[in-house]
Amino acid sequence: MTSNKVKSDQIMNHYKEKLLALRRSLLKAQETGDQAEQTVELDQACVGRLSRMDAMQAQAMSIETGRRRREKLLQIAGALQRIETDEYGYCQECGEDIAPARLDFDPTALLCIQCASAKES
Ligand SMILES: [Zn+2]
Repeated sequence: MTSNKVKSDQIMNHYKEKLLALRRSLLKAQETGDQAEQTVELDQACVGRLSRMDAMQAQAMSIETGRRRREKLLQIAGALQRIETDEYGYCQECGEDIAPARLDFDPTALLCIQCASAKES
């Protein structure tokens, strides 16, 4: 063994593909989301008070969604960088492997399930 690399390139490519696909769908949602934020403004003049509140609530929600989306995009960029530097898939807290099932569910996961649940409680 000349390499201490535990994770094979094949597995890394699998997660890289997942991350890239996730980024593509987020960027696509961002386009439609931005359009939704703009439409609210235009509609305000011709709707009643109640539906205006609805519209404002919808706008607040879409702003929040947009914020989370940008956050996720940053996490994806970080995960892709960790793949490049062979640091991907290890818990940032304890250094153990993050379970593949967890990475399949969220390829941007930074913590193993133990450390993540310890943080949440
Ligand atoms: Zn851990």
